[in-house]
Amino acid sequence: MATAPQVQVRPGKLFIGGQWLDAADGRTYATINPATAEPITHVADAGERDVDLAVQAARQAFESGPWAEMSAADRAKILWRLGDLIDQHSDELGTLETLDNGKPIFESRYVDMPMAAEVFRYYAGWATKIHGETIPVRGPFLNYTLREPVGVVAAIVPWNFPLLLASWKVAPALTCGNTVVLKPAPWTPLTALRLAELAQQAGVPDGVLNVLTGSTRELGRALVRHPGVDKIAFTGSTATGQEIVRNSADTLKRVTLELGGKSPNIIFADADLDAAVKGATIGIFYGKGEVCAAGSRVFVEKKIKDEFIERLADRARKLQPGDPLDPKTRLGALVSEEQMQKVLSYIEKGRAEGARLVAGGTRAAFGNGKGYFVQPTVFDGVRNDMTIAREEIFGPVLAALEFETLEDAIRQANDNPYGLAAAVWTRDIAKAHRVARQLKAGTVWINTYNNYDPAAPFGGYKMSGYGRELGAHALEHYTQVKSVWVNLKD
Ligand code: NAD
Repeated sequence: MATAPQVQVRPGKLFIGGQWLDAADGRTYATINPATAEPITHVADAGERDVDLAVQAARQAFESGPWAEMSAADRAKILWRLGDLIDQHSDELGTLETLDNGKPIFESRYVDMPMAAEVFRYYAGWATKIHGETIPVRGPFLNYTLREPVGVVAAIVPWNFPLLLASWKVAPALTCGNTVVLKPAPWTPLTALRLAELAQQAGVPDGVLNVLTGSTRELGRALVRHPGVDKIAFTGSTATGQEIVRNSADTLKRVTLELGGKSPNIIFADADLDAAVKGATIGIFYGKGEVCAAGSRVFVEKKIKDEFIERLADRARKLQPGDPLDPKTRLGALVSEEQMQKVLSYIEKGRAEGARLVAGGTRAAFGNGKGYFVQPTVFDGVRNDMTIAREEIFGPVLAALEFETLEDAIRQANDNPYGLAAAVWTRDIAKAHRVARQLKAGTVWINTYNNYDPAAPFGGYKMSGYGRELGAHALEHYTQVKSVWVNLKD
């Protein structure tokens, strides 16, 4: 294994009101490197009292002080600076992410970090372009609207893209003048702590961005129930999203949810098959398959199915897991032992339900032999009602299914509770657009997979959640509209 480059792991403290504080009850927990199963460092384990403190700090910064009075143009400068600081520290941030999450440094350093930086700059550009309207109303009145921030935002993020998904929430929230309590996932707290330092360096005033690390679900629950929080921006599993909606009902918080997926990737016989094989491989194995939009169900037209799956399986067999810190590695370690066991148990279910294993299927030994590596796995002969075709596995496991007609492909693709993303591969452009319209998914890729851009909205249909992140659409969720009436009579 490559030795970890010298990165300074920050103090295991909470960032509240611009200060580094221990958890109120002094508890800490270890964050583990999934490639070695060894601890990286200890971080503070926040509880309810820390939630109170962080929300109070965020509330105060929202109501009064420099942030509340700052012009949009000045907020924009700070956010732009933060984007640039992420770029300047992308080696260090990428290494921290890889150590914590197990993803290849190639992905964290060259994909996640540059995009996180871009997200801050993209939203910096919006700060000065958010405004109300004048509305032509009846009578001698002037009516105009103000677009105001919603207040204190709790940003709750998962472990698969820790800094990137934090940026999807923190950047638009701050752009619109809100303040934030960011809660990273228990397994991946390190880049959120570093983000807090960089934000302070960029000029984000105290209390505007607070970070609570913690190991328990109670921490998230306390944030969701807290009366001082106005909005929850959540990315994570569908079950947690449902609980959040229930727990936020008493205080009627605004909630946006980016949840799970079981995305169909449809390959027609008239597609550029080289590109489609590559796209399907990236679709499922990028990010170790721990990607909400992973193309985990590939539907292949019957007449090319055998050839296609053989080529795909061949690529999968060649894609061996490696040291995540090695720049040549393209498949890292799953995030935790628990996640690895979950993925292996789905592989067992696939076998037991009669799917045919054509690549992978086992844990992979690598380095000190203790890491959580799983071989890229492909199942052929999957039916859409099998567990591995219905449930989100969140690992490098592909279910291959076949179809005969366009209608059959769409019917099977839509026959799933999720609706996050989908893809279609064909040279027939009219057919591609027809399929794109009929797929029930928040994102459809045509002859490509896994493209993201700060300007393009992302989010789910059906059980994959509601609300959109990125692009102009996200701004709706971080602002509220005030209607002002002025009497113009003498
Ligand atoms: P998770 O739902 O277990 O946890 C997500 C976050 O919520 C973590 O920070 C966790 O600590 C917190 N949390 C847990 N219980 C909570 C509760 N009761 N109240 C409030 N917060 C709580 O999900 P995970 O295992 O970290 O992430 C994997 C899931 O995230 C997958 O289902 C994946 O599809 C989904 N995901 C979705 C997207 C998307 O954009 N749609 C992106 C990435 C991941």
